[in-house]
Amino acid sequence: MSLSCPRDRSALEPQTYEAKIEIDACPTCRGVWLDQGELEAIGARTIEEQKKLDAYLTQATETIRTKILELEQKLQSETADVTAHKARLAAQVEAASASCAREVARLQIERDRLQEICSTFIVERRG
Ligand SMILES: [Zn+2]
Repeated sequence: MSLSCPRDRSALEPQTYEAKIEIDACPTCRGVWLDQGELEAIGARTIEEQKKLDAYLTQATETIRTKILELEQKLQSETADVTAHKARLAAQVEAASASCAREVARLQIERDRLQEICSTFIVERRG
């Protein structure tokens, strides 16, 4: 049975709304006409969709929150690693610097000793 548009009398075309609900649409004025119970069915379906969407959003939010937590922990752990590594490097630099200073001091003493021997040798040769 073909219905006609209450506004302009065009023959309405059945269209499927949200997969399950069939509605009548006017191709002329684009009006949509609902049979008894269809608005309620659409409302129920909208609520159902809303619930699905809410559940999905809750799940997605939880997943994202978990991921952020994981990343924060990873960042914290890596920051701790970097800090420890920096401390190790600083200790190595300090040790190398102290060793270098000791070597410089030892070479200065050696140089002074050699100069002393040299001057003694020169004095002995002159004498
Ligand atoms: Zn119409």
